[in-house]
Amino acid sequence: MTKLNCPNCKLSAMFCYCTKLKLLKLKKTHVTIIRSYKERTISTNTARLAQNCIRPLDLYDRGFIDGELNDEILKEDFQPVYLYPDESSVDIFNFKNSSKPIQLIVPDGSWRQTKKIKRREPWLNNVPSVFIPGDYLSKFIVRKQKQLGYICTIEAINYALNALEDNFDLSLIEYNLNLLVDTHVKFRPRQLEYHLKN
Ligand SMILES: [Zn+2]
Repeated sequence: MTKLNCPNCKLSAMFCYCTKLKLLKLKKTHVTIIRSYKERTISTNTARLAQNCIRPLDLYDRGFIDGELNDEILKEDFQPVYLYPDESSVDIFNFKNSSKPIQLIVPDGSWRQTKKIKRREPWLNNVPSVFIPGDYLSKFIVRKQKQLGYICTIEAINYALNALEDNFDLSLIEYNLNLLVDTHVKFRPRQLEYHLKN
């Protein structure tokens, strides 16, 4: 990565698509992403895309030796839910009419990395896990998610918000994700090749 790269999308200025992004302002939900720090410089990381186009949203990197996360991440007067389909997870639609606004906590990283997050973060112990019902096929072709149910982080956030927010429009995030995908397909085929192999 050179210093000339855009700090938001991590692409060089000539490929930067940030000014074309559509901003999504949420009415009720607060999004919090817990990202594996190894993802932080990767231009196809869709947690970064979410950070660039969704408000309110905060993003924390985990895995740094000197930067442990704690329960200060949990927002006062919000009902936190953790978006991950583990054994105890419940249907996210159960929280649709929650008396408190929802803090949607979303892990980001490889399947192997995200599997460990809840176990290793004690402050998440009392946060219910939720799953999104239904079968989804990823539209995200830059990185390999070919199996049903394996969707990228911003797609998962999109479907979760569709469950939680009123009259939610799925097309806005889809448009932004297409911008990221199209840019990489057109201008960064070598990086695309790298991600398909790894
Ligand atoms: Zn940019």
